[in-house]
Amino acid sequence: MQTTSSKPFSYETLPSAGVVAYFSMEIAINPAMPTYSGGLGVLAGDTMRSAADVGVPLVAFTLLHRKGYFQQHLDSKGVQSEDVQPWNPSDFCVEEPARVTVTVEDRIVTVRAWRYELVGRYGHVLPIYLLDTDLDGNSGWDRGLTDHLYGGDTNYRLQQEIVLGMGGARMANALGHRVNVYHMNEGHAALLTLALLESQLAGGPLGEATETDIEQVRQKCVFTTHTPVPAGHDRFSTEQTIRILGGDRTARLEKLGCFRDGMLNMTLLALRFSRYANGVTMQHAKVTRGMFPEFAIDSITNGVHAPTWISEPIQQLLDANFSSWRRDSLYLRNAIDLSEKDILAAHARAKRELLAEVAARTGLVLNPKVLTLGFARRVATYKRATLLFTDPERLAEIAAAAGGLQIIYAGKAHPQDEPGKALIQQVYEDAARFSNGVLRIVYLENYGWDLGALMTAGVDVWVNTPRRPYEASGTSGMKAAMNGVPSLSILDGWWIEGCIEGYTGWAIEDGANDAEEANSLYKKLETAVVPLYLEAPEKWARLMRNTLAFNGSYFNTNRMVKQYTRNAYYPVKLIERAKVEEEVFAD
Ligand SMILES: *Cc1c(COP(=O)(O)O)cnc(C)c1O
Repeated sequence: MQTTSSKPFSYETLPSAGVVAYFSMEIAINPAMPTYSGGLGVLAGDTMRSAADVGVPLVAFTLLHRKGYFQQHLDSKGVQSEDVQPWNPSDFCVEEPARVTVTVEDRIVTVRAWRYELVGRYGHVLPIYLLDTDLDGNSGWDRGLTDHLYGGDTNYRLQQEIVLGMGGARMANALGHRVNVYHMNEGHAALLTLALLESQLAGGPLGEATETDIEQVRQKCVFTTHTPVPAGHDRFSTEQTIRILGGDRTARLEKLGCFRDGMLNMTLLALRFSRYANGVTMQHAKVTRGMFPEFAIDSITNGVHAPTWISEPIQQLLDANFSSWRRDSLYLRNAIDLSEKDILAAHARAKRELLAEVAARTGLVLNPKVLTLGFARRVATYKRATLLFTDPERLAEIAAAAGGLQIIYAGKAHPQDEPGKALIQQVYEDAARFSNGVLRIVYLENYGWDLGALMTAGVDVWVNTPRRPYEASGTSGMKAAMNGVPSLSILDGWWIEGCIEGYTGWAIEDGANDAEEANSLYKKLETAVVPLYLEAPEKWARLMRNTLAFNGSYFNTNRMVKQYTRNAYYPVKLIERAKVEEEVFAD
C-alpha cells in the first residue's frame, strides 16, 4: 500500500477522495429562499458559492425553514411587527427519497431532505440538502420542527439541533456520500459528533466509548466558532438535555467535559470533538482562546463572494479592464490601475440605483451628490445603531459643513429582542427629530440580501459601530470594500485587518465609553471623511480603488475556501491519508 504521494496538491484530485459535509443552521442560498437571517447564513452561502467556483467538493446540510425567518414591517414610529415567510421548496429543490430518523424526547421523528443544486462558474455542482420533518407519521409538533429559523424557545432550538446535527449526519450516510470531513459552521450543528460517535459504536452503549472511538470522530471533524462572548454560545440546561436528548447521552456528554456552568455548551462540545477549530478573524481567534484556553484555535478570516456582492456597474468596469477577477478574486488587486473617472462613474450608477430604491420605498428623494453613509445589520444593542446621534448638534454641524449628509439605515431585530426593537424606534425618533434640509436620515424596512447588495454598493461610506469585542468578524463592510466603498468603523473583527487609515477607510478609535467613541466618530467625519469628499473627486476615487484593490482581493470567500481546504479540511498529511483510503475503497 502506497502511503505517500508525489503528486502536487490539486483541487481536481479531491472529489474522488470524498466530500466535506458542511453543516449550518442557516444558508443564504438564493435571494428568493428565506433560509437565512443574517451574517452567518450569508457566509455559509458565500462559502458554498466559492467552493462551487473553485471546485472544492462540499455538500451542505441545513434545515428547510418552511416559514422562513421573518418579514419585517415597521410602522410610522418604527415599531417592528413580523410576518412568516412561507415558500414552496419544490420551486427550487428536488425531494430525495431517503428517510432517516432521530429521537427527540421519547419520539422517533422521521427526516427527509430536499436537494438544491448550486452550480459554480465552471459547472461544478454542489448539493445543499435542506432537512424537513413535515411528514405524515410525525406528530403535529414534530412536523413543525423545521419551520422557523431561530424561532421558539430553547426546547425548540435543541430539538432543531438534533435534526440538523444527528439527522444531517445520518442523511449524509443515507444519501451515499463518503464524508472525509464534517465541518460545523457554528455550534448549532455540534450534535453531529454524537451521531458519529454512536455510529462508531455500532449500536453499543455510549458508556463504552473508548478514547480510540472518540479520537476516530475527532479526526473527521472541524469546527468554526462565530461567537466572541460567553453569553452568545448555545447552551442547554441539564434538565432540558436529559428530557430532550436522553439521560445516557447527557451523562456521557457531561463526562466528556461538554458542560460548563451546569449547562451543555455547544461550542465546548464541538471543540471537544474536532481535530481543528478556528475563529473567523485573527482578533476573534484570540478572544476565543481566552474563553477556551485548553484548545488550539486557528484563525481563517471571513470573506464574501465577489460576483454575488459586486454591483453590476462595478462588475462591468472590472470586466472591461481585467475579467480574470471572475476566475480568481486575487486579481481584484489590479483595481489599483482603474481610472479615477471610471470608478467614480460606476459608483455613481450604483448610488443612483440605491437612491431610486429609497425613493420607491419611502417617497424620499435623496441627492446623489451628497455624502451618504450606510448602516445596516441585524439590530442588536452591541452594534450601537444610535451612536451617530450621541451629539445631534455636532452631527448637524458636520452635515452643514459637508453641504449635506444622508444616512441610510436598515436592519431587523430578532422578534424576541425587545431592546433591539426599541433601538429601531429610537433611530426612527432621532431621524424625525434631527432630519432637516441638510441632514437626512431614512430607515428602510426588511433588510435582506437584495437590499444589502444595493446599500453596500451604493453608499459612499459604510459605518459600523459595534462595542468591542462583540463583532467576531462582520462581513457587510467587506461587501462595501468589493464595491470600492470605504468603511468608517470600530477596530474590531475584520476591520482590524482591513483598515489602512486614509487608504481603505478610517478607524473609530477605542474609547473608555460610548461618548468617547462617538467623539472619535465625529472627529473622523470632521477631519478626514468630509474634507476628502469635498476636496477633489480624484482623491476620493483613489480611496475607492485602494479599497477595492487591497480589501477586495483579500476579504473574499475564494481565498477563504482555499484556506479552509489547505489548513482545515485537507492539510497535507490528511490528503495522503485520503489517498490511502481511496485505495482501500478501490480494492
Ligand atoms: C452581509 C449581510 C449581513 C451581515 O452583515 P454584518 O456586517 O456581518 O453584520 C446580514 N444581513 C444581510 C442581509 C447581509 O447581506
